[in-house]
Amino acid sequence: MTVKENYQKILKIAEKAAEKSGRNLEDIIILGASKTQPVEKLIEAYKAGLRYFGENRVQEGIDKIEKLKEYKDIHWHLIGGLQTNKAKYAVKYFEMIHSLDRKPLADELDKRAKKIGKKQDVLIEVNIGGEESKYGVQPENLKELFEYSMQKENLNILGLMCIPPYSENKEDSRPYFARLRQLKEELEKEFNVNLPHLSMGMSNDFDIAIEEGATIVRIGTFLFGERNY
Ligand SMILES: *Cc1c(COP(=O)(O)O)cnc(C)c1O
Repeated sequence: MTVKENYQKILKIAEKAAEKSGRNLEDIIILGASKTQPVEKLIEAYKAGLRYFGENRVQEGIDKIEKLKEYKDIHWHLIGGLQTNKAKYAVKYFEMIHSLDRKPLADELDKRAKKIGKKQDVLIEVNIGGEESKYGVQPENLKELFEYSMQKENLNILGLMCIPPYSENKEDSRPYFARLRQLKEELEKEFNVNLPHLSMGMSNDFDIAIEEGATIVRIGTFLFGERNY
């Protein structure tokens, strides 16, 4: 299967799932999770119509952004965990950061965004399965982090992101996705704000995520093939 064929298959699946949740394909952002993939593969995806790419590491992302400079309508997102000392570069290069999960990072992102006169789009990553090995704020600390980050002048908090515990069975992800949506709705109500985005769902479970309200799905293997580390 080529990247183009994979992309077309993804669009079909996403469209069906969107209909199930009373939405259209246009309401869903398909984000290519392109970590470790060579730029040739990203170009293939671009030519097939993909316009959103998500990288995990700041430096690898910057290398690709530089190499693909001529494709001016690509939206670059940072989806991996972010070290505070790399916040400066993340803000400079990425349109949206999916992995805000602690106050010092909010401080630093805000400070760096202010310095370059940017309002940085961010999502708060929630450790929805309470796993020790995962990034993300614990659900019980979400409200506090949200309230804190919302007050930052140069941050634009647009929603939540999660990676549920891995399972062979995609239905196992559904309650975690539903929970993330519920957490988002609670924040909207309590703080009287609109949070447009839920970033959830990967290769094995993105249709379930869309059914549960995802607006951004992050797809790696299904789109690009296996990763080479
Ligand atoms: C790698 C990665 C993905 C995509 O994973 P696949 O299972 O290959 O689709 C999505 N989100 C994040 C944060 C990732 O690191």
